[in-house]
Amino acid sequence: MVMDRSHPGVLPPLTLLLLSTPVGALGSGLGGGVELTLRNIAQELLQRGHSIRIVGPLGSKLPGLEVQPIAGELQPTAQTQDRNAAIVLPQNAVIANMWTYAHQVQREFDLLINFAYDWLPFYLTPFLQRPVAHLVSMGSLTNAMDQIIEQTITRFPGTIGVHSQAQAATFAFGDQCRCLGNGLDLSLYDFRPEPQRFLAWVGRIAPEKGIEDAIVAAATAGLPLKIWGAMSDPGYWQRVCQEYPQADFTYGGFLSTEDLQRELGQSRGLLMTPKWVEAFGNVAIEALACGVPVIAYRRGGPAEIVEHGKSGWLVEPDQVAGLVAAIQQLDAIDRRACRQRAETHYSMTAMGDRVEAWLADILASSRSSVHSENATV
Ligand code: UDP
Repeated sequence: MVMDRSHPGVLPPLTLLLLSTPVGALGSGLGGGVELTLRNIAQELLQRGHSIRIVGPLGSKLPGLEVQPIAGELQPTAQTQDRNAAIVLPQNAVIANMWTYAHQVQREFDLLINFAYDWLPFYLTPFLQRPVAHLVSMGSLTNAMDQIIEQTITRFPGTIGVHSQAQAATFAFGDQCRCLGNGLDLSLYDFRPEPQRFLAWVGRIAPEKGIEDAIVAAATAGLPLKIWGAMSDPGYWQRVCQEYPQADFTYGGFLSTEDLQRELGQSRGLLMTPKWVEAFGNVAIEALACGVPVIAYRRGGPAEIVEHGKSGWLVEPDQVAGLVAAIQQLDAIDRRACRQRAETHYSMTAMGDRVEAWLADILASSRSSVHSENATV
């Protein structure tokens, strides 16, 4: 698998249909990093002269962008399913309604981009007239999802995008995935040279994010921990609060990007303690953009984003003592080097180049397969 940084040259203006995750309305935070990723990709594609339409569950709101709202039951999240879990589709499923809409309007578009980690869009791909680019937001979770993604990549090579090499490596077909990283509008993130005396933890409050390790590490290091993120699993949060009644931590709710960067930027460091292979970890690049060093377990996307000893510290997974030692060494990290890392690797331009090149390749191979099908008729 290749991290593609080449500039595609001038891609003619395209008309693109972007289909969001069906697990929550855009802006709710329930969609995790997908929400910011979709927003940034949409903004960058618009900036480059492409026309886009975004489709999302009813109630979706994205700053500065219109969303075509679709009604229906939200999809349950996939993160905590076991490997043999069956595919679930609720009655009047919003994902089915979103793709019925896509089927109806597809002829107005050159290409469809799927942001959902769900079985249905992959299954429907061969039945659609327009090519579909799938941006896969998580690593391997269930056998049924692995199978349908593999069928899609076999039939439509090059159409599966991922965010990190570690994420790709969780799939048997990882070497065929296109690694797109991610990017931010850096003008929205202020560089903060002088931190205050606290640590930050940012993300969906859910078991796979392992917030308890951050709480114990911050308490052991003697620093307050401030937490922000969507409350995905309130039962889990209650259990954590009951388990560590003495620890100094506060939950500040789910903030807009503007407010989040203002708060996060004041922290001495961001702790990332996921229990799963984090596909990327948008919050890592958001912290770096503010000049905040990242302390993360050495697995998944954060291990590719953070340069150990330069933009943060990578710690042996699940070792709270390692987190504590890293917290004690935060002063050795130059906050300007963190911002620099975000500017060189995770700008909108860098991401836009990678996404445009990916879409150009998908369109080229779809046109050549249409030609060869016509030639054999
Ligand atoms: N986020 C936010 N407000 C908050 C906390 C988090 O907008 O108060 C967003 C953050 O910007 C990031 C997302 O939540 O885009 C979390 O995504 P990440 O890729 O870190 O993890 P995921 O939830 O996708 O596993």
